[in-house]
Amino acid sequence: MAGSRADNGERRVTARRSDREEGPKRIGVLALQGDVREHVEILRRLGVEAVEVRSVEDLSGLAGLIVPGGESTTIGKIMVESGLLDGIRSFFYKGGPVWGTCAGMVLAASATTGERQPLLGLMNALVERNGFGRQVHSFEKDLEIEGFEKPFTGVFIRAPFFEDVGPGVEVIGKVGDRIVAAKGENILVTAFHPELTDDARFHEYFLREVCGL
Ligand code: GLN
Repeated sequence: MAGSRADNGERRVTARRSDREEGPKRIGVLALQGDVREHVEILRRLGVEAVEVRSVEDLSGLAGLIVPGGESTTIGKIMVESGLLDGIRSFFYKGGPVWGTCAGMVLAASATTGERQPLLGLMNALVERNGFGRQVHSFEKDLEIEGFEKPFTGVFIRAPFFEDVGPGVEVIGKVGDRIVAAKGENILVTAFHPELTDDARFHEYFLREVCGL
């Protein structure tokens, strides 16, 4: 990373993962649908190579993968058709770091309160899709995030939340008692859209705390 972290002491939170330090610095953004370009731009601004992922082959050699916001049912359907559902699962189970934002958080969950839909099931969590209501209920909110010194402005658009999480999941952000940010061993989820703000702290957090870059 190009040394552009916010100067807020987040580096104290976890030690770097020495086993990944020599690894590739290329981060993929799943580019089937949704907010792809915004993530790519922030990653490039932070000095990492960002690539769009459209096939299982594109996953090879990645140091991390972002599953962006969009429509989780649409993204899930294309993932099934393209083989990426299984491809991303095996990337993850081999230790590949994943960050799901909004629809990506829905897809990362192991179960949903709503209708059945294809899920990656990377995180031990029950998700309530559109938990904050529909489009009209989009809002911004300053959030206290565990490990962040200053609040982070969350942009919520038809956002989900986690109703419950199981062992191995650390809750790092809430709105009331609704879980909107969480972290596991090699996974991060946010119900909101950090790529729609000028604040790169969540991208830096993902690269540093989850990808070990
Ligand atoms: N509610 C949408 C879904 O379930 C997510 C919305 C978003 O990503 N902005 O896919």
